[in-house]
Amino acid sequence: MRLAKRVEELPPYLFAQISKVIAAKKAQGIDVITFGIGDPDLPTPPNILNALHRAADNPANHRYPESEGLPELRQAISNWYERRFECSFDPEREALALIGSKEGIAHMALTLIDPGDVALSTDPGYPVYEIGTMFAGGVTIKLPLRQEAGWLPDLDAVPEDLAAKAKVLWLNYPNNPTAAVADFAFFEKVVAWAKEYDVSICHDNPYCDVAYDGYRPMSIFQVPGARDVAIEFNSFSKIYNMTGWRIGMAVGNGELVDALMRVKSNIDSGIPQAIQEMAIEAVNGPQDVIDEHNAIYQRRRDRIVETLRKMGLEVEPPKASLYVWAKLPEGIISGDFAARLIDECAVVVTPGRGYGLNGEGYVRLSLTTPDDQVEEGCQRLEEWRGF
Ligand SMILES: *Cc1c(COP(=O)(O)O)cnc(C)c1O
Repeated sequence: MRLAKRVEELPPYLFAQISKVIAAKKAQGIDVITFGIGDPDLPTPPNILNALHRAADNPANHRYPESEGLPELRQAISNWYERRFECSFDPEREALALIGSKEGIAHMALTLIDPGDVALSTDPGYPVYEIGTMFAGGVTIKLPLRQEAGWLPDLDAVPEDLAAKAKVLWLNYPNNPTAAVADFAFFEKVVAWAKEYDVSICHDNPYCDVAYDGYRPMSIFQVPGARDVAIEFNSFSKIYNMTGWRIGMAVGNGELVDALMRVKSNIDSGIPQAIQEMAIEAVNGPQDVIDEHNAIYQRRRDRIVETLRKMGLEVEPPKASLYVWAKLPEGIISGDFAARLIDECAVVVTPGRGYGLNGEGYVRLSLTTPDDQVEEGCQRLEEWRGF
């Protein structure tokens, strides 16, 4: 078999490796507590499931869906952005449904990147941005993120020739894995920079409603003129506990949205319509679940932060996202630390190195672990005497 280079060069998917280690421990009868992947543990809310049950009985939903999503869904997405961010999008030209935002993110590179083209993303960062570019034959240059700079890239430090060459910049705030957030001034700078160098901005915003202590994350479209250069990916997954249903969205610049729609219409035939009905109910139905879920995550956050501090890690409680990002004591390698925790107390954390070189020295803990397991995991960590 002679596989394509793009497959042979794929790095192993971070969580696939971790899952193997967990499976091996479980096979030995060990009760593993995982703060690994960010996948809401609570079920999809009942009103959203009821929409699926109803929709399943409608024969119209048994046939091929439209690639771009039901007009009613695109309208609902547009209305949601209007209510949530006071930004309106033309549902026909500027909004698109995705098979989970990850699908749209991966395919987006095909709309912007020719072989040899340059994309910018961040280190650390969510790996899919880079993989999409690699599949399209492009090259990713990573902008370093550092704790001192609030894990925001310094666009002034991007060399002129690199900025002029880059076709796209990938950003994600609230951020996975660092839990950093970005303010208006940052996004304003991003938009001005993108216009100056003719770079498209892809902003990935799945945590826009997963936030604590009253903090309200932004959309890049709250910056005037962002629509000239940007597309924003968003998702029902994290906000409405819908990761398993695979549905997301993109809104923004009509040319970018149209290009993504044209790529997708040649690859997939859309999202099962019954699942689109769920998404419509998610954004049009009662929104109380958002605060209820955030209150649960906030309690877990506080418990985990307390534990990590007791262990001697440096950590700030995150304002948003599903993650606690903690700094290890000087000289401790994140992969070694994570491996020791699995071996010595059967607790899984994600090594920061998995998200890039600048993630070294940090670990990520997800807040999507059930309460009783959070408590058990924290107790094990507090009893661990590793350093
Ligand atoms: C979870 C996550 C996604 C993927 O969301 P889906 O809509 O479920 O595909 C995208 N980007 C980031 C940064 C994420 O953490």
